[in-house]
Amino acid sequence: MSTEPQAGVTGADAQQQQEHKSVTPDVAAVIREQKEKRAPVEITSPARTVQLEDLNAYYGDSHAVKGVNLTYAANEVTAMIGPSGCGKSTVVRCINRMHEEIPGARAEGRILLDDADVYAPGVDVVSVRRVIGMVFQKPNPFPTMSIYDNVAAGLRLSGKKGDVRERVEESLRGAGLWEEVKDRLSAPGIGLSGGQQQRLCIARTIAVEPEVILLDEPASALDPISTLKIEELVLELKKRFTIVIVTHNMQQAARVADKTAFMLAGELVEFTDTDKLFTNPDDSRTEDYVTGKFG
Ligand code: ADP
Repeated sequence: MSTEPQAGVTGADAQQQQEHKSVTPDVAAVIREQKEKRAPVEITSPARTVQLEDLNAYYGDSHAVKGVNLTYAANEVTAMIGPSGCGKSTVVRCINRMHEEIPGARAEGRILLDDADVYAPGVDVVSVRRVIGMVFQKPNPFPTMSIYDNVAAGLRLSGKKGDVRERVEESLRGAGLWEEVKDRLSAPGIGLSGGQQQRLCIARTIAVEPEVILLDEPASALDPISTLKIEELVLELKKRFTIVIVTHNMQQAARVADKTAFMLAGELVEFTDTDKLFTNPDDSRTEDYVTGKFG
């Protein structure tokens, strides 16, 4: 990849390129800072472990994910990193069975939520997606709905009982958005800023009390302040949920993730503690990637 911003690329692309260019010292600094800062997290709600066993995913004849084995620990944040097209998003879409919605796409292997195989015959796909929630790169609030209804909609769809108003407030608080929206709950969700919309989507996801949250590049379309808010939120959410975050931003992985998985061409190259992966990786391909030799 060229290290100079190309003509026609967006500001965000240029920023990504810039981050890659200076990755070694910056990521090392983040790692040092995090080590000093990171307090042990108080788990307020034990979540569940997700285990991938020989996961293979295909788009027609194209073999996009090749024999991946890895365990996402409960109440931890695991980052998925690797160059564009290496299969990160496909892996996370397999976890909550979204992958199979794409025409011609299929997955093989086992994915265990604690002991339960989410691919076992007879498993209700809708309930899998309730227990394993997902937030996408581009915030996608329901366009015609108010802020309140965006969060309440998830609750209604899931058939969860209880005081809806209370749950909506709790979820908006949990997503760090309540103070900003409490006086305009009936305003349209799409009237919020991009960062607020993304936290609204997180509120909608946590309203149905999942066990696992998959975040696919949740901050890559956001400005730096909103990105920071999402990262702070991720650290808060792991008290209650198991978190998997796909990111192209290595500093972000260094800031938020307990463990990091590095993928290349559909294969899992290395999966270990974030500090180790960035400072002392076992595989030379990991080292080349985290030091910016390719990307
Ligand atoms: P990453 O998230 O690491 O950028 P993806 O999981 O999106 O990678 O893609 C992995 C591979 O699968 C790539 O070669 C990509 O082109 C291919 N792929 C992704 N989505 C589709 C799709 N909907 N149809 C066909 N191929 C796809």
